[in-house]
Amino acid sequence: MANELEKTSYRFDTQRLRAGYDPKEHNYAVSPPIYQTTSFDFRDVEHAKALFGLRELGNLYTRIGNPTVGVLEQRIAALDGASGAVALSSGMAAVSYTLLNVAEGGGRILTSPYLYGGSADSFKKVYPKFGITFDLAKNIENPEKLSEEIKPDTKAIYVESISNPNGVLLDIDAIAKVAHEHGIPLIVDNTVATPYLYNPISHGADIVVYSATKGLTGHGNVIAGLVLESGKFNWQSDKFPQFSEKYYTLRDINDNNRSFLEVFPEAPFTGRIRFNYLNYFGAALSPFDAYLVLIGLETLSERIEKQVRNAGILAEYLKTHKSVEWVRYPGLKDSPYHELAQRDFPKGAGGILSFGFKGTTEQREAFLNSVKLFHYHVNIGDARSLIVNSPQTTHSELEPEEKKIADIPENLIRISAGLEDPADLIADLEQAFEKANT
Ligand SMILES: *Cc1c(COP(=O)(O)O)cnc(C)c1O
Repeated sequence: MANELEKTSYRFDTQRLRAGYDPKEHNYAVSPPIYQTTSFDFRDVEHAKALFGLRELGNLYTRIGNPTVGVLEQRIAALDGASGAVALSSGMAAVSYTLLNVAEGGGRILTSPYLYGGSADSFKKVYPKFGITFDLAKNIENPEKLSEEIKPDTKAIYVESISNPNGVLLDIDAIAKVAHEHGIPLIVDNTVATPYLYNPISHGADIVVYSATKGLTGHGNVIAGLVLESGKFNWQSDKFPQFSEKYYTLRDINDNNRSFLEVFPEAPFTGRIRFNYLNYFGAALSPFDAYLVLIGLETLSERIEKQVRNAGILAEYLKTHKSVEWVRYPGLKDSPYHELAQRDFPKGAGGILSFGFKGTTEQREAFLNSVKLFHYHVNIGDARSLIVNSPQTTHSELEPEEKKIADIPENLIRISAGLEDPADLIADLEQAFEKANT
């Protein structure tokens, strides 16, 4: 499985095109082939035994691994500097398998209040029924006080590197330090930033999750997710017995049962997700969808760079408009997150911005009904520019009090900047404002 390329010193822009794939091993095909097969023949009975005991890693059944999906896993691991990665069929599968893997059997997760609506809603509605409860941190922006909120059964801290829709940035290095002082991992959802803008592992994250549906693929044509691990966290602790538990299915050649830590010393977390959660809960990414993500990754840097540029232009335009109450974009000089953006996001603080519409509800709705070039839907990170009224759509699950804590006012409108000519985007907003005001 190991590929020479990952071990070399190729830089980010080379890795996103080359890591995890060697044409020589695939009939010299330049573009990674789509291995559209459910299963892989065993060479012989010994081979079958070795694969089933995980004594040899290889292709067996596409639910738990596939060569096309494997290229994606290795490529993203190289981009993020991860020791292991597992691809899944959606971002929500990545979030849920991660949380179950870290807190199965019960426990608490300390989270940022600034989260993707689907995550926030499932944390409240679904997980408590499995014995996993969530505490919304009051001090996520004051990490020096965060320790007070960690309880004996807290199993992890969970945050987003750039929050959606508000563009809240956090001091991830400081939060990681607090987590590690308490022997628990920091999980970072890096979907909005993508590895091009931010590398959570180099800032202390232990687990990184992605919805690859968004900027990673960037073409609005696939639902996919990924989980990565740093390989640095010590899972050999009483808090996480699941990693030291010995399983018959992991037995060695002498029939001794083994643990995930013994079988995957460098990547026990993603190894365990693959062979427990992916294997038995089954949210497998199809080879074709993995291929689409790989194609998207080939242009990641150029796309995100232009989205950041367009987001900045749109933010400056909106700031001067009379129908705009406020603009939130961490790239703006007057943003409360500008300093963190300068420190941790030298290539820009993402392609998402939001603004407060000044006017009545009817005017706000007329504005949205009048945009022509912007797409009105819930995705983000697409090549096309998107606009949405988050409080009434993506974050409509939140109750009024929760919206207050998450700081999502009713008049918030979110924009995900695409790759169009910014003058056309501004002209579209301008004509929609005019219609709303007549
Ligand atoms: C969209 C999104 C998810 C969920 O991903 P899906 O691929 O839609 O399942 C998780 N986290 C963040 C930050 C997202 O934007």
